[in-house]
Amino acid sequence: LTRLYGPLTALSNVRVDVMSALVSFDRVFEVLDLGPGIEEKPDAVDVPAGSGRIEFRDVHFRYPSAAEVSLATLEDVVTLDRTESAPVLKGVDFTVEPGQMVALVGPSGAGKSTTSMLVPRVYDVTEGAVLVGGVDVRDATLASLRDTIGVVTQDSHLFHESIAENLRYARPGATEEDMWAALRGAQVADLVAGLPDGLDTLVGDRGYRFSGGEKQRIAIARLLLKHPSIVILDEATAHLDSESEAAVQRALATALQGRTALVIAHRLSTVRDADLILVLDEGRVVERGRHDELVAAGGLYSELYRTQFAVGSAPPAGDGEIEVV
Ligand code: ADP
Ligand code: MG
Repeated sequence: LTRLYGPLTALSNVRVDVMSALVSFDRVFEVLDLGPGIEEKPDAVDVPAGSGRIEFRDVHFRYPSAAEVSLATLEDVVTLDRTESAPVLKGVDFTVEPGQMVALVGPSGAGKSTTSMLVPRVYDVTEGAVLVGGVDVRDATLASLRDTIGVVTQDSHLFHESIAENLRYARPGATEEDMWAALRGAQVADLVAGLPDGLDTLVGDRGYRFSGGEKQRIAIARLLLKHPSIVILDEATAHLDSESEAAVQRALATALQGRTALVIAHRLSTVRDADLILVLDEGRVVERGRHDELVAAGGLYSELYRTQFAVGSAPPAGDGEIEVV
């Protein structure tokens, strides 16, 4: 998600044939975070600076099929298979108020990640609407959406460039001082300071290989530099060992301060603190409320809670996973 939004110049070179075009587009999208057919309207308006409200209004969504992807991106492709993919979201309604932290929980495949991707308009809804700061994201300028929303997913992507260059994607004008402040906030300054080339250290296969948790913290440093008013976390600490998870958690606590957050929750501690928990199942919000209410209600949430936290040797308070498979 929202890694980078560079120019779309690469797209003009890709009209060779459908297959190679699809492969290339995939790659481009990975970097640009634009789904197929996502374009800014000529009369698009900016999302007001500092917007914190997110609204889902009866959102239905299914992923575009591969054929639709090619039709959306190559105007003149002939006839292709147009089988529709299954609906993934089936009427999702909720509001995140400015400054709130809302947790999305639910079984694997429920549609949590998909929901989070509709906010920065990686994809467009099939029906209904998603609003950020009162503006339908389809009517918003892409730049203002990207400025407003910061995303950290479970596998953050770093480019084969220096650490400084990786950070400047978040804020091109960032000074070294800005970058160090962000790295400190993200609990990774000591590590970078200890590298022979510091901020100029090359990242990647032929450079310094960050561990998963270190990468996450660099991604969080990017988020801090970017200063978005809305933060979306998609299981940002999944797949980390407990030591790096603790560091990433501290970094995230800094990153969430004073911001609106939509968090796909992985740890009970996060969920417990949420102003609102939305329990998603098969593309619908089946329960909503705070932790204690939902435990008491005895529904899916309490089941997730019981099976993940309370059975047998309970993990230390505030720890453990909530996603079930
Ligand atoms: P969760 O994050 O709750 O585990 P997801 O939002 O990732 O769920 O997935 C919801 C459903 O959408 C799943 O059935 C999944 O297989 C499907 N899905 C996810 N990504 C895509 C995609 N890019 N194309 C088609 N289907 C997808
Ligand atoms: Mg997911």
